[in-house]
Amino acid sequence: MPDRPTCNAHGFDRYHHAVRADLTYGGGGWFALFNGVSSAPKKIAFTCSLCGETFETTRDPEVLKQYRKYPYVRKPADVPVAPPSGGRPAPPDGA
Ligand SMILES: [Zn+2]
Repeated sequence: MPDRPTCNAHGFDRYHHAVRADLTYGGGGWFALFNGVSSAPKKIAFTCSLCGETFETTRDPEVLKQYRKYPYVRKPADVPVAPPSGGRPAPPDGA
């Protein structure tokens, strides 16, 4: 298990529910939107909502990718092999 930064007061890591992720989309704004490349944040700062400490800032592409769906983010270890059916159930056998 990787050693992730945590807030000093509580030991919460970026996946804790009390930790807020502030997504930064960088420059470009509407222009980036226009070009369809704005969906991924550029930088994320993780702040504990209890003590207010910003204990981690990341530009890790893997993390950025996860947080595209923020706040629907799950710890990688908690993500099931098959994603939960998001509206459209899998067709029955022999469809
Ligand atoms: Zn804290």
